[in-house]
Amino acid sequence: MKTKFNINNLVRENIKSLQPYSSARDEYKDANTTEMIFLDANENPFENGVNRYPDPQQNNVKDLLSEIKGVAKENILLGNGSDEVLDLIYRAFCEPNVDNVITLPPTYGMYSVLANINAIENRAVLLGDDFQPKVNKILNVADAHSKILFLCSPNNPTGNSFTVETVRELLLKFKGLVVIDEAYIDFSEQKSWLERLAEFPNLIITQTLSKAFGLAGIRLGVCYASKEIIKILNNIKPPYNVNELSQQRAIARLQKMDEVQNEISQLISERKRLKKELESCDSYIEKVYPSDGNFLLLKVDDATKRYNQLIEYGVVIRNRTNQPLCKNTLRISVGICEENQRLLRALKAIKEQ
Ligand SMILES: *Cc1c(COP(=O)(O)O)cnc(C)c1O
Repeated sequence: MKTKFNINNLVRENIKSLQPYSSARDEYKDANTTEMIFLDANENPFENGVNRYPDPQQNNVKDLLSEIKGVAKENILLGNGSDEVLDLIYRAFCEPNVDNVITLPPTYGMYSVLANINAIENRAVLLGDDFQPKVNKILNVADAHSKILFLCSPNNPTGNSFTVETVRELLLKFKGLVVIDEAYIDFSEQKSWLERLAEFPNLIITQTLSKAFGLAGIRLGVCYASKEIIKILNNIKPPYNVNELSQQRAIARLQKMDEVQNEISQLISERKRLKKELESCDSYIEKVYPSDGNFLLLKVDDATKRYNQLIEYGVVIRNRTNQPLCKNTLRISVGICEENQRLLRALKAIKEQ
């Protein structure tokens, strides 16, 4: 039997007893404000559109996300990019120089960078040759101080999703929190774990507006979890962590989901087309891995050589050859049709060299 999960057993002591900062907008936030004047935040009163502090709880953005994703607002926290969300998770649950996290390389580099910044040991357990997590190995390296397991699905840079059964087993058997980074979920045929949030009290899902939603420039990351976890993260986030301009741009975009869907569909069909074209090149491209993201991972004869040749043709991609299990691989983001054509021309041109 699984013992009853209690989030308080995972939170750092100093965070449990923290008195959070209370901003002017936290203390008075009556929405019925046309008759009120606001002299409580030392703002400059001359209107210019952004002279007031932004909503610290980003209510309008969350209302839209809540509707689009079918998740209650109390289960949502927003950050200055997923990177801030991930950092908040580290700081809430991982005691420096005591606790550890588990990551599954090859994967997104920020998990280990954040571990280093926060003085947290990173126990890396390589994915299998099929790029799936090795459940037994993961559970074996875990101990009482293993607070977080990071699963990136679809995974960057390999492009594959982890199987439902593997993720489910880890959610049930790992004693700490399981963060599923779904940065690429909107490009995937697999379902998001969002709809199963209520089933797993140790589940945190992160998503972002940086990829499918086309808003990398505004830095908006999204965290979905139990209301208990969201409350803890809310207590430690900087009060105004998502600025007014970002909130406005996010709202405008989320009100045009047909546009977002249309771009996603185009990128998925470009990804499929690109994969076919690359597979028919049959020269120095040895393998094109299946992808659920907006990128493709290729295995080539000599990744560094091909990377440099493409630069000569004005095409910049990512050389992943130094990542574990990724020797001689290149990661290519799917562009618009013209960009992909130019990429294909460059790949053909360098064939003879
Ligand atoms: C791109 C990416 C992100 C996005 O991070 P932001 O800080 O929200 O831009 C998160 N996770 C993974 C795996 C990514 O590849």
